[in-house]
Amino acid sequence: LAGERESMYVVSEFARDWFHRTLLKTEQGKAIGLSYFKERGFTDETIEKFQLGYSPDEWEAFTSEALRKGYKLEFLEKTGLSIVKEEKQFDRFKGRVMFPIHSLSGRVLGFGGRILTNDKKAAKYLNSPESEIYHKSKVLYGIYYAKQAIAKEDNCYLVEGYTDVIQMHQLGIENVVSSSGTALTPEQIRLINRLTPNITVLFDGDAAGQRASLRGIDLILEQGMNVKVCSFPEGEDPDSFSRKHTLTEVEDFLKENAKDFIQYKASLLVEEAAGDPIKKAALVRDMVESISKIPDVIKREIYVQECARIMDINEAVLFNTLAQMRNAGK
Ligand code: ATP
Ligand code: MN
Ligand code: MN
Ligand code: MN
Repeated sequence: LAGERESMYVVSEFARDWFHRTLLKTEQGKAIGLSYFKERGFTDETIEKFQLGYSPDEWEAFTSEALRKGYKLEFLEKTGLSIVKEEKQFDRFKGRVMFPIHSLSGRVLGFGGRILTNDKKAAKYLNSPESEIYHKSKVLYGIYYAKQAIAKEDNCYLVEGYTDVIQMHQLGIENVVSSSGTALTPEQIRLINRLTPNITVLFDGDAAGQRASLRGIDLILEQGMNVKVCSFPEGEDPDSFSRKHTLTEVEDFLKENAKDFIQYKASLLVEEAAGDPIKKAALVRDMVESISKIPDVIKREIYVQECARIMDINEAVLFNTLAQMRNAGK
């Protein structure tokens, strides 16, 4: 229903403005939320641009204000901003700093909220629930701010988190989006494909980031797009790395370390499976498996040649394996 969705957008945009004002204008917002963002190195300009906010550490500060302003509980509940339980209402994002999530055209679809304490039992990030306006598998955080730069640079950097997007923007690299905690989906990749066929995956320098980047590669190849991968030093993510370096340093780092997916996978071999023939064989199969996802036959041919060269394997053997995999996949 178009009217219902519009009401959900309108209440979400009220929430964005209210959280943002609360961050900048209230004592609690300034003392807790704003000082948190400042500690992370966000400038006033960045906080303004991304419309960052703060949700007070009270049970229903936001909900009661929204109701007072005439927003209906129905839409507060449908957007997940409020939780209704036994005739009582609660703020979903109580005590969190707020990251509004925008559509390609800049409407507010939902929020990510980050906890400020070190409470290991609570989720670090909480997102809006699935709703008629927020489909997490179709959303990319930052796409509204990145779309022009993505088209202009003809490349999109894909990072893991909200703060990675924001920190890179602040440094001056604007063609960045994030899947924000959900495993990358074909819909998200197609959204990027409307702007460029080239993706560079920048995942965190930890085991989870590496696993996520490997999963992402095949999905991107399946969409017929080109994928490069850039690993970060152990323990760093694009946010922490961007804070420690200048724009030129980060640009140079990305240029020097962004590897074609075949080279990226080969580099894992050097780290993990050097001198181990069984592991090498498994990795070569894995590479050919990725190549088999590429729709374009000429690109497949070129990648097989590259794989044969890098891994020092007979091309004909690889083409055979590739043919078997493609047949099995049908
Ligand atoms: P920060 O720098 O604020 O600690 P991050 O972005 O580096 O956060 P990661 O732990 O690297 O956080 O996780 C990457 C992304 O995954 C986050 O930005 C967030 O979108 C999502 N995420 C992380 N932890 C959770 C969680 N507990 N629940 C839901 N999503 C999460
Ligand atoms: Mn403002
Ligand atoms: Mn991270
Ligand atoms: Mn981080």
